[in-house]
Amino acid sequence: MLGYWSIQKKIGILSLFFLLARFSGGEEIRACLKEGESLARVKAAFTPGLRGNVYICRQENRWFLINALELEDYVTGVVGNEMGKEWPIEALKAQAVCARSVALYRKNEARRKGKPYDVMMSHQIYGRCEHDNVITAVEETRGEILTVEGKPALVFYHTCCGGATTNPDNVWPSLSWPYLLPVSGCHCDNSLYTNWERIFWRERLSRILNLRIQEIAINEKETSGRVITLTITTADGDRLRMKAADFRNRINQRAQSSSFSDPTTLPGTIFTLKRDKDRFIFTGRGYGHGVGLCQWGARRMAEQGANYKEILRFYFSGWEVTQHLPKEGYGNKSSLEN
Ligand SMILES: [Zn+2]
Repeated sequence: MLGYWSIQKKIGILSLFFLLARFSGGEEIRACLKEGESLARVKAAFTPGLRGNVYICRQENRWFLINALELEDYVTGVVGNEMGKEWPIEALKAQAVCARSVALYRKNEARRKGKPYDVMMSHQIYGRCEHDNVITAVEETRGEILTVEGKPALVFYHTCCGGATTNPDNVWPSLSWPYLLPVSGCHCDNSLYTNWERIFWRERLSRILNLRIQEIAINEKETSGRVITLTITTADGDRLRMKAADFRNRINQRAQSSSFSDPTTLPGTIFTLKRDKDRFIFTGRGYGHGVGLCQWGARRMAEQGANYKEILRFYFSGWEVTQHLPKEGYGNKSSLEN
């Protein structure tokens, strides 16, 4: 559950560059470039721990790094950084299927657009991981993805839902993905994220939102307590409605972090709100956007004996775990070495 910047720091001097990944070799990356754009292989000594090869790419006056690696190696790197390596194996396996599904969905999307890379760090965090538990979880689910109506599904996951997950529309209104229904009765109580409090000065929130805030009130919430919209009253008496997910994003963007331990972040959108003079006190539970698989809920289910397919069925009702055709997406060793 490392953040993007800590992963960038781990890969050393190349941390100034944006890291992307592609599940094929250098020649295929090169084939996506136009005249005047360039690609060069980076010495392994500069990219400690990353599997496959790393290329530095210049495209449209932007520079970035592309890690060319096997899909399953990428999945290992995601599972080891998005979930605790010591967590129960069935939870790690559920995470592996989710990570692989995200990778394939994004890969299909990127290749349709002719991008030289398949996935970005903003899709899911990945980095070095050689932990046995993670390698086993990836190996035991090799090639498996979630599908909906026979097609690779767009999968989401987060740290801790706080008891109930939410509809993707509440977080990304422009996203057209009607197949994911919210679930309640998630077993993530007693996690590290069950109860939290954040205090923000009115002045600070005004700066973050670029508004002269007079009052903030909860406008609409789900039965789980998840806030969907807030009403913000400005010093001029204007009343604005804002999605709670956008409000959280704005705060976390300003903090340049979404880390739970950072007191300047807002961990989630299940909260109550109190005003104390010039301070707003948010008391909440859960951590993350709340869409899709809840990692702490998956951990609890695994501890109680559920297998990874049962875990996935709980969060992705009506979806299937399908063996993805092995050839597509894996690349082959020789192509990754060019
Ligand atoms: Zn949960």
